Amino acid sequence: MALLDIRHLHVSFRTYRGILEALHDVSLTVEAGETVGIVGESGCGKSVTAQSVMKLLPRGAAVYDQGEVYWRGQNILPWSERDMNRLRGRDMAMVFQDPMTALNPVLTIGDQLEEGLRLHRNLQKEEVQREALDLLQAVGITSPEKRLRQYPHELSGGMRQRCLIAMALSCSPRLLFADEPTTALDVTTEAQVLALIQSLQQKMGMAVVLISHNLGIVAQMCRRIYVMYAGCVVETGTAEDIFYRPAHPYTQGLLASLPDPDHKDKPMQGIAGQAPDLFHMPSGCRFFRRCPQAMRICMTAMPLQYETGPGHTAACWLLSPERRRFCETKHTD
Ligand code: SF4
Repeated sequence: MALLDIRHLHVSFRTYRGILEALHDVSLTVEAGETVGIVGESGCGKSVTAQSVMKLLPRGAAVYDQGEVYWRGQNILPWSERDMNRLRGRDMAMVFQDPMTALNPVLTIGDQLEEGLRLHRNLQKEEVQREALDLLQAVGITSPEKRLRQYPHELSGGMRQRCLIAMALSCSPRLLFADEPTTALDVTTEAQVLALIQSLQQKMGMAVVLISHNLGIVAQMCRRIYVMYAGCVVETGTAEDIFYRPAHPYTQGLLASLPDPDHKDKPMQGIAGQAPDLFHMPSGCRFFRRCPQAMRICMTAMPLQYETGPGHTAACWLLSPERRRFCETKHTD
């Protein structure tokens, strides 16, 4: 049984501009102890997927239209807020991308760290303080006694991110969502934070879902990868599948847009055009306006998921057994 099993999840937001379809038929699994990556450009649904699982989406605006989210075999979508509160922190936790906004600026690091320990672990005051110190030490923070008394603005970006990781790990979760955990950091601190997540994961045996737009980071950390585009999962496979045998034109475009260290003079190729407006999704393939291989069918029918190898699937009509027939009608708009 998978630790997390998201099945055909559809999520939308009710906004003053209308209905925004954030996730369309998203299916994703995470096994205990594994590291899974979710990649894609901004607005593709990576963070919404994680926040949907933890039910952190704005209440009233976010609607779960269809689908199920199984946590260790139980569908948690119908769970009450009280049940979810028990699950969050203790079983699954999240590290957000901007530590300055994720931390409360008017509470000390100690107050924020100890709150989670008190809520979920039922520890005595002295035990809470000892545990908070141990956690800061475990994430490599120097002078932890002093840091516990400091406010977030008194720490560097790297230290704030380490504090967030300490808070997320305070209850030894089985699953950690790391949502762009290094976006706000410089390259050296980024490498340190990623190494820290990896070593803590190995020590604690937890699963990690790494959300990133940085393919290099995902390649280095993840065993399996989900590529998302405009609210849909367009390709899934092992890191080798995605980087050496990409099957979806969007994944191929993403890889072609990376700099080639062996051919530094080679110009980088971007993906032409822009992602579709989430308020007005096309009825067919959501990538068809940018796809160099688009066919007429792509305009009207959403592609099915096709398997191209064990555990490697992509949603593209080019992979259909009827591809030859579709190719006769090229899209020319
Ligand atoms: Fe391109 Fe059509 Fe495949 Fe979409 S379904 S990625 S438009 S070829």
